[in-house]
Amino acid sequence: MLKIGKSSYEEIRRHGEELYPHECCGVLLGQMDGDSRSVTSIARCGNTRTDSPQNRYNIDPRELVRIQREGRERGEDIVGFYHSHPDHPALWSQTDFAEAHWLGCSYVITSVEKGQAVTTNSFELTGAGEHDKKFVDEKIDVT
Ligand SMILES: [Zn+2]
Repeated sequence: MLKIGKSSYEEIRRHGEELYPHECCGVLLGQMDGDSRSVTSIARCGNTRTDSPQNRYNIDPRELVRIQREGRERGEDIVGFYHSHPDHPALWSQTDFAEAHWLGCSYVITSVEKGQAVTTNSFELTGAGEHDKKFVDEKIDVT
């Protein structure tokens, strides 16, 4: 399960609306708590994909390292990632799966239709490694 505060949840959805028709992306920070993750803040990222920003996203590794370091200074870990799907369902794509490597983290996808955030889903990346990783649907608990 992914537990997330209402303000962070709304910010993820607003980010998708602001960048429409391009994809937004960012990082979820908080605490790992057994099988669930609690999000206490989010960090927006620049989408470094310029070839196809509508349906691909990529986070600059240097930006990710900075976000991780700043999170740790506040006692937060990276617990997941989010991005938007402009005019596409909130379901993971083969590209999303191929580019997901953070086992035990949540991958949140929001569909944005005609500029309006519609559905937000979360998928946990489970498995012991790249060979048997898979996305599992998980509940989002907005508090
Ligand atoms: Zn995607």
